[in-house]
Amino acid sequence: MKSFLSHLECTVCGKYHDADLVQNFCDECGRVLYPVYDLEGARRAVSKIDLLGRPANMWRFFEMMPVRSPDNVVTLGEGVTPLLRADKLGRKLGCSQLFLKDEGMNPTGSFKARGLSAAVSRAVELGQRRVAMPSAGNAGGALAAYGSRAGIDCFITIPEETPQAAVTEVRLYGSRLELVAGHIGDAGRIARERAGIEGLFDLSTMKEPYRVEGKKTMGYELAADFNWTVPDVVVYPTGGGTGLLGIWKAFEEMTQLGWLEEAKMPRMICVQSEGCAPITRAYLEGKDRSEPWVDPITIASGLRVPTPFADDLILQTVRESGGTALTVGDEELYPAIKDIAELEGVFVCPEGAATLVALQKLLEMGTIDPDEKIVLLNTGTGLKYLDVLETP
Ligand SMILES: *Cc1c(COP(=O)(O)O)cnc(C)c1O
Ligand SMILES: [Zn+2]
Repeated sequence: MKSFLSHLECTVCGKYHDADLVQNFCDECGRVLYPVYDLEGARRAVSKIDLLGRPANMWRFFEMMPVRSPDNVVTLGEGVTPLLRADKLGRKLGCSQLFLKDEGMNPTGSFKARGLSAAVSRAVELGQRRVAMPSAGNAGGALAAYGSRAGIDCFITIPEETPQAAVTEVRLYGSRLELVAGHIGDAGRIARERAGIEGLFDLSTMKEPYRVEGKKTMGYELAADFNWTVPDVVVYPTGGGTGLLGIWKAFEEMTQLGWLEEAKMPRMICVQSEGCAPITRAYLEGKDRSEPWVDPITIASGLRVPTPFADDLILQTVRESGGTALTVGDEELYPAIKDIAELEGVFVCPEGAATLVALQKLLEMGTIDPDEKIVLLNTGTGLKYLDVLETP
């Protein structure tokens, strides 16, 4: 197996960056770098059918992954999560083709495993053995786990008001932890300071080029599970936006690879919390960039991201896809968690429940047609939120 990673390209000014050097963001304009692949080469080297015969984890898409040598892959078996038909829930809503992709099945209980498996593998491959990262919760747990497996030094900052599970995980896996008063933006500042002092590599969301590559494998898996067709709508709980961007990138790559049965892309729906919705606000105001959200508050801790670094890309993707952005209230989350649990047997996280609330609103508004093929992304397991969920 060989990676067809070619180089890194700035998503704003297009500047070329060498992928085999350590990079964070564009050295010209400071914006997000994306890995670019030789997809012609990949297409000749491997068929989509071959991939499905490989072990059931996200590294089966190795040709389109950013790690040069399979020996450098740090894995706990992440990815290849179930795409569940949600027929009973669908019947309740009047939807005929409703699906739930359950990312709660990943190592450490959230899809952050995908991003951090990719980022840690590539960091280690490029000789970075000391890293720093702020987290709203689940990313911290995932980095701590992959960091322990890779045997690297991790410094992780987490806001105090984060579900206990993430804090326990980071300590348990042996990372260095600092609890920070405030939100992930404050945690980011502390992580950057420490990174500067100790010379640690910054693994913040979208500020290094490879977490998005792990998350894009969700898009490859969706296409494979739908027999290389494209769902009409993907409903995604958006914090830093890596998952939404990754899924979109995967569909773009598969289009170039000629793997899709139809020339079509999904509509991407960005769901945020009423208590922290910088992207949705910018979307509704017709802006290309978001403003920092003051006093972000939500029990959906993964959505508590007041200044998403890739705001421009998220807004561009939502618009280009013909999707939309909306908010849901925290008080709507628990009933949705209960509905999914009772009807489908899945204990989703509050962020995952937000996608169901959003779907209900979009069906009422007529933005989504009940006969469309709809995917709700459950980004993590509800089991990591026991201390913040009120259980009547
Ligand atoms: C991080 C996180 C999100 C937000 O993901 P992004 O890709 O950063 O937008 C959503 N849900 C959960 C459970 C998370 O941990
Ligand atoms: Zn640039």
